[in-house]
Amino acid sequence: MDAKKRRKIKYFGPGVPNEKLRHKILYKYAKNVVFPYDDAVMQGFNQIGEHFKFIQKTEFKSEEMKHKYEPAFTSMFSKSDNMKKLFVGLFRASTDCRPYLKEIKKTGYIENNKCLVESYPNEELYAEIIRYLKEKYPDVRIGYTKIPIESVFLSRPVLFEYALVFIQEMQKDKIDKAPFQEAGAEVMRIYAELGAVTNEIASILRAKHLVKCQTIHPAGGDVNLPQLAVKSGLGGFSKSGNVINKEFGSRLRISAILIQNKIFEYTDNDEHRWIQDFCNTCKRCVRECPTGAIYDESINVEKYIEGIGQHKKASDMEKCHSMHRRTVGCSICLRVCPFSSGADAYSKLKNVMKKQN
Ligand code: SF4
Ligand code: SF4
Repeated sequence: MDAKKRRKIKYFGPGVPNEKLRHKILYKYAKNVVFPYDDAVMQGFNQIGEHFKFIQKTEFKSEEMKHKYEPAFTSMFSKSDNMKKLFVGLFRASTDCRPYLKEIKKTGYIENNKCLVESYPNEELYAEIIRYLKEKYPDVRIGYTKIPIESVFLSRPVLFEYALVFIQEMQKDKIDKAPFQEAGAEVMRIYAELGAVTNEIASILRAKHLVKCQTIHPAGGDVNLPQLAVKSGLGGFSKSGNVINKEFGSRLRISAILIQNKIFEYTDNDEHRWIQDFCNTCKRCVRECPTGAIYDESINVEKYIEGIGQHKKASDMEKCHSMHRRTVGCSICLRVCPFSSGADAYSKLKNVMKKQN
């Protein structure tokens, strides 16, 4: 994409002021950052700003669905504690790369931390992060991977090539109330909490271990977080495009810390690819989605991505967004998914698939 067209991309959503500045500095000065492909996918909030209205009427697929869910409304701002925490987290995440931007402006690159590279795979540090999370945030899991260029959003170059990926569970009893108030509040709680956890770990890594890193908040950023979660082996893609994890099913949110070097071993694996075959026998979310946002067959086939495979999608973001925005997260597709029914659901469903094949 030429520089003129790149400048025209409107920024809309989390961390906007910093993104404009970062975009300008990186395209002008940087030599060794990760630039997206010219035909990369747009970040979700940018898509909303570019292609459809932020405030739009929910189009229910049937009168029955309308009757069932029309009263669903969750006020984001009634959950002020989480909203404040969420915005503080977003601001921290979107401004934590400022020192590196200064370095780039001065020298054109960010200097490597040679000690960490030489002490690869830093097993003790990785174990320390896991221990810290287990004690303070037992519902968070991590993985480590290389970021595929295809996962970097259009016009959103990132500073670093590797990602420490986080997932956090949303409580079952709350998501079981979807799309009503309690489920919406849980979605906001996890956005806020996971954002804070990710910032906290990034601060520790920078202060104690001199790791150069950039936080991607769960509420939105520069890279496709579900793709990073799948590549790092934390789960597999479902029909609806959500990530399904062994322990949490599809009740999860994702964040990441982008890291300068390969300092940990990759956790990549493809053991969850069978999920898509299971989805083709299930299709419960297709039937239950009130706006018809999940299609029977995958309609958009995105690029083949090394380590992920063909990322097929069967969901319509515009249709979903009208309900998602209205109910602060909707989450009906997460509630009805059989993988979300408990910690042993994954292994039970895998056995069912094995018997069928
Ligand atoms: S969140 Fe899921 S169920 Fe709700 S509208 Fe979107 S795709 Fe449909
Ligand atoms: S509800 Fe069924 S089809 Fe939809 S994501 Fe879950 S397992 Fe897959």
